[in-house]
Amino acid sequence: MIVVLEQSATEQQISKIRKYLVDHGLQIREIVGEKETILGAVGQVVIDPRTVELLSGVSKVIPISKPYKLASREFQKEDSVFNIGPVKIGGSRLVVIAGPCAVESREQIIEAAKAVREAGAVILRGGAYKPRTSPYSFQGLGEEGLKYLKEAGEITGMPVATEVVSTSDVELMAQYIDVYQIGARNMQNFELLKKVGSMNMPVILKRGLCATINEWLMAAEYLLSSGTNKVILCERGIRTYETYTRNTLDISAIPVVQKLSHLPVIVDPSHATGLRNKVLPMSLASVAAGADGLIVEVHPNPEEAMSDGPQSLYPVQFQKLMADVQAMASVVEKELARLPHKSISNKSKDKAVPTGLKVAFQGEHGAYGELAVTRYFSQQEVEPFPVPSFADVFEGVLKGDFPWGLVPLENTLGGSIHDNYDLFHQYPDIKIFGEIKLRVRHNLMVNKGTRIEEVKEAYSHPQALAQCTAFLKKHDIKPMVYYDTAGAAAMVAQEKDPSKAAIASIRAAEFYDLEILDEGIETDPLNFTRFALIGRDDLPQLENPDRASLLFALPDETGSLVRCLTLLAKYDLNLTKLESRPIAGKPWSYMFYTDINLPAQTEKFHQALEAMKDVVSDLRVLGLYKA
Ligand code: PEP
Ligand code: MN
Repeated sequence: MIVVLEQSATEQQISKIRKYLVDHGLQIREIVGEKETILGAVGQVVIDPRTVELLSGVSKVIPISKPYKLASREFQKEDSVFNIGPVKIGGSRLVVIAGPCAVESREQIIEAAKAVREAGAVILRGGAYKPRTSPYSFQGLGEEGLKYLKEAGEITGMPVATEVVSTSDVELMAQYIDVYQIGARNMQNFELLKKVGSMNMPVILKRGLCATINEWLMAAEYLLSSGTNKVILCERGIRTYETYTRNTLDISAIPVVQKLSHLPVIVDPSHATGLRNKVLPMSLASVAAGADGLIVEVHPNPEEAMSDGPQSLYPVQFQKLMADVQAMASVVEKELARLPHKSISNKSKDKAVPTGLKVAFQGEHGAYGELAVTRYFSQQEVEPFPVPSFADVFEGVLKGDFPWGLVPLENTLGGSIHDNYDLFHQYPDIKIFGEIKLRVRHNLMVNKGTRIEEVKEAYSHPQALAQCTAFLKKHDIKPMVYYDTAGAAAMVAQEKDPSKAAIASIRAAEFYDLEILDEGIETDPLNFTRFALIGRDDLPQLENPDRASLLFALPDETGSLVRCLTLLAKYDLNLTKLESRPIAGKPWSYMFYTDINLPAQTEKFHQALEAMKDVVSDLRVLGLYKA
């Protein structure tokens, strides 16, 4: 049952309620939400819930209708978000786990770890105890394998995941690993579930070969009721009459489970299909269906793999998978999890940013800029800090008021945000350290209880209104210009007039406690804004950048632009953007702003930069970063 506490409940009342429940044989989990605190009480309920409702401090008691309790959405409305080492999983994050089926040798796992890390994986997998169908197949290296796995994780900075097959290995394994994996064949090994659950560590629970969703969630319940609250469900294909693929990937299980449970759901496209050329399409389908992550088998040399070679990706295939998955992630408004880079986790080397670290954005709370900040820093605790203008973001970062700022550079429908390009020119000590592409989804929001028929006017920034014209026409709602989207949401919340709605981000609805009547009301769904993360240029640059942004001016002579572009082509550098801007105070003179795709080896780029100095003037590197 769920015991919702009164907001005014005192500590003393709460401990009395707890004692009452515990005395009646129930286990308790406390969930402190923004608006209410609840006690989840599970176990064999022998008391009448009405007696609990009568205790002072209790607001109401709600029975949980499902057989699984701690795993259910009824128990916890919000998505579970938790850490696996430094990596956060759940909510809007997309976590990619990759590595070989089995740890075969020290060299093999280190090579695999480096390859998957370089492509963007954030957790390393590799089996040391392999539950094989045949007793004559390779059974894994055991503890020796765990040692190599741990070492490979340390070298590459990734937490490690590995399968546990026996209760007697559970404690030993905890010294080496960050997350346990319960394999499909052991999903209903209840003694193993109880033992692993009691370790209080993250666990990946694979769906059994023939398990229903209910059985799978009941297995999760075993883990949760044994102590841990960090369970990741993994869909890995189920057995059907189809034999073309090794198993049949149940894509629809993802949204089904996400409705029933708050736990993150990841997909294993490798075991689901058994065929490496099916892994990419199934990964994209899983992300499109809302998966919170992927676990993919990658081997440095799949033909020589000791297990599951035919389904293991070559490292180059995995690189392509990561690029495509990233493109798909922004469509479903997820952010690919990155390991925090050193300059972001400033000062203390390994620690994440201290809580309360401020990141500046232009606008008010609820602005799209704030949403972009929370998505960019989805792996860290930061405080998005609103400032009135883009110039204030640059100025605050320069003065050191904020270590980071996030500013929009361009929108796929509206084009470049020139103010910010000009600010880079004015602030030579500010550089770009990263970028994020945010899908702009407009939502119609109202005060709680308002029906759409009551809404007569929608307030928002003129650009947002223009992007929602078809929707507004259809519902006969008048567009009303407001200075910005979040400001409009604040006004609607304050006025409480049911004829007024706002068009703004999901973050604005949360912040101003408005109800979203309709989401994604923009006419063109391909509406993305690219934001740049800016910081002072005395911070260390990121490792493995793949994009460079440059600013330069050209001498006023025939062919100067062609000479510059020819030079970039000569060094095999692919230009993704070129834009000219007038230079303030110098009528009819222009700066050129360009983005370049960086090859893995950046020497060519640096050689090209040297050569460019002879053909352009005022050359500045705005940043080398990950696009
Ligand atoms: C594995 O991940 O290597 C594995 C054996 O998976 P499953 O339990 O899903 O078959
Ligand atoms: Mn395998």
